Amino acid sequence: MSTSRTKDKYNIAVIPGDGIGKEVMQATISVLDELDIDFDYVYGEAGDECGEKTGTPLPKETLDIIRNADACLFGAAGESAADVIVKIRQEMKMFANLRPIKSYPNTNALFDDVDFMIVRENTEGLYIANQEKLTEDGAIAKRIITKKAEKRIIDYAFDYARDNNKSKVTAVHKANVLKKSDGLFKKIFYEEAENYPEIETEDFYVDATAMYLITQPQNFEVIVTTNLFGDILSDEGAGLVGGLGLIPSANIGKDGALFEPVHGSAPDIAGEGKANPIAMMLSAIMMLRYIGENDAADKFDAAILKVLDEGKTLTSDLGGSASTMEVAEAIKNNL
Ligand code: ATP
Repeated sequence: MSTSRTKDKYNIAVIPGDGIGKEVMQATISVLDELDIDFDYVYGEAGDECGEKTGTPLPKETLDIIRNADACLFGAAGESAADVIVKIRQEMKMFANLRPIKSYPNTNALFDDVDFMIVRENTEGLYIANQEKLTEDGAIAKRIITKKAEKRIIDYAFDYARDNNKSKVTAVHKANVLKKSDGLFKKIFYEEAENYPEIETEDFYVDATAMYLITQPQNFEVIVTTNLFGDILSDEGAGLVGGLGLIPSANIGKDGALFEPVHGSAPDIAGEGKANPIAMMLSAIMMLRYIGENDAADKFDAAILKVLDEGKTLTSDLGGSASTMEVAEAIKNNL
């Protein structure tokens, strides 16, 4: 995921969005401001509130802000999430969805030694806009697998493994039933693997993988898979390591990248100042690595780890009573 790009100043699109998106974004920016990197933040609006105010949940100006930025930080969108985030991914051709699944101390993680990355194809498979239709008998959904998109995501997964000192990539599919489409995915996986002789490979059926994630999650380093399977397995991964307040994600394309927590706007706790900001912060750390600021990313990561390790300043989802901004302050003190 890391590029070697380093600049004197970075133009960052900041879209706080709805509900706790605003709160976790404010907390995250307050830590980024302590990192001695020159960020030029350009704020944009998107989501339910924006829709009520402007008539559209994703105004053209917001898309332009994202297009012109080096990277985008996104908080959360409520009911309009599909119209906002799916549209941004499509417009910006963000083909790779990255979900790191990592256990941290003092969380509800089922294991304390899980650390793998799910690389999910983001543009095709079963989730293609306007490809579902009602028929006389019921409904039909199309699943599209193209050589170009699958080769692109598989190469991305191998490059990620190589650049991040991972020794193995696992392809996940259902080629025994979906013989043509997933048969092709599997074939491309092993063809591309020949370009990465130093990286070990294996492939599993998706149903078996769902079980292995529970029985032996330590086996995985990088998983590459198609759109629907990646969506499901990444939520299973979130459950493995203790829930939504801790899971970041990245959407990467050739011309842009967006970093967002996996959780939504959490209307049940919005405005109370008690949202866990760590998923948003870990998303910002993925952004730092993407723009090539690895030292700052390591520093930020270590400061979060220290707060979790100490277990004194935790939000209520992790059994504590600290506020969002108190967690941010504790992290800043550890930088
Ligand atoms: P949306 O409609 O925006 O998706 P939601 O409530 O359906 O909102 P999430 O926002 O993902 O979905 O929240 C699911 C549950 O997890 C809620 O009970 C919420 O309070 C909790 N939750 C989500 N994110 C956090 C967080 N960062 N800190 C604490 N609790 C969280």
